[in-house]
Amino acid sequence: MMTRRGFLKSGLFASLIPSVFPQKTSNDLVRSRGNPTVISTWVQGIEANKDAMRILRKGGMAIDAVEAGVRVPEGDPNIRSVGFGGRPDEDGHVTLDACIMDSTGNAGAVAFLQDIKHPISVARKVMDRSDHVMLVGEGAKRFALAHGFKEENLLTDESREEWLKWKENMSSTDDWGPNDNHDTISLLAQDKKGNLAGACTTSGLAYKIHGRVGDSPIIGAGMYCDNDIGAAGATGRGEAVIKTAGSFLVVELMRQGRTPQEACEDALRRIIKRKNGNPNFQIAYIALRIDGEYGAAALKDGFKYALNSSGTNKLIDVKGMLS
Ligand code: ASP
Repeated sequence: MMTRRGFLKSGLFASLIPSVFPQKTSNDLVRSRGNPTVISTWVQGIEANKDAMRILRKGGMAIDAVEAGVRVPEGDPNIRSVGFGGRPDEDGHVTLDACIMDSTGNAGAVAFLQDIKHPISVARKVMDRSDHVMLVGEGAKRFALAHGFKEENLLTDESREEWLKWKENMSSTDDWGPNDNHDTISLLAQDKKGNLAGACTTSGLAYKIHGRVGDSPIIGAGMYCDNDIGAAGATGRGEAVIKTAGSFLVVELMRQGRTPQEACEDALRRIIKRKNGNPNFQIAYIALRIDGEYGAAALKDGFKYALNSSGTNKLIDVKGMLS
């Protein structure tokens, strides 16, 4: 006879779980309509959500909402990890990464883009006006200028001062390890028709090696959207997100029946496992399923996300899985 321990180990127990606790599979999901929702990372998500929601309330498309939403922190010099005012790389250059994806599976991205304030709008142009997905560096800039974007200095006095202090005090010892500068915005939206879209934009890791690109402009890493299932976005240590195809993984886990919350947690568990249970950095995921369910998870305490739905726009604290 099978012992209790043997039964648990055999996997039979696990295979019975779904019948005891029924999960929604992709076939059961009913698209939420008429109730627009915006979810985004960090405190700057509050202002970003407002602009996104303004578009959705008027019956606008999710793709227009996500672009408008993340343009808010991109243009705000006080948000120090996105767009104008973002912290520079080790050489003092502000280099920006962004991606955008719509409900039809179309996507655009830019990476290592300099001197252009709104990388998300350049990413959108790549999506709308070319048959490419990603442009980087000088090529991305040339494309942006050709489409009428203005060349601007994005290094504010405050960011320059901070960078100089970093050079004086930390540059020889900094191994680009853990730091607290995680302000990347990932923003997901569902419009009145129930269609989804996502956007992600960042100036990346502060004082990174010149040329470093993180997860944020990579479709499937920093953000992913599948209009049959849901959308997901990431913030935090980009290298670990790329190595686990983070946002794609969250969406695929939802396809397998995980709730958005469970999907975010399971995707983070892969990272925890790879780091032997002890990652020394922060990563957080947000997810929005097509039926309107949402969720979020973070490795460590301190992560917040902004949720705008049913007339309220609030900031929600997430307890870290490792805290
Ligand atoms: N994910 C971003 C990157 O690695 C940074 C962050 O969100 O903190 O470039």
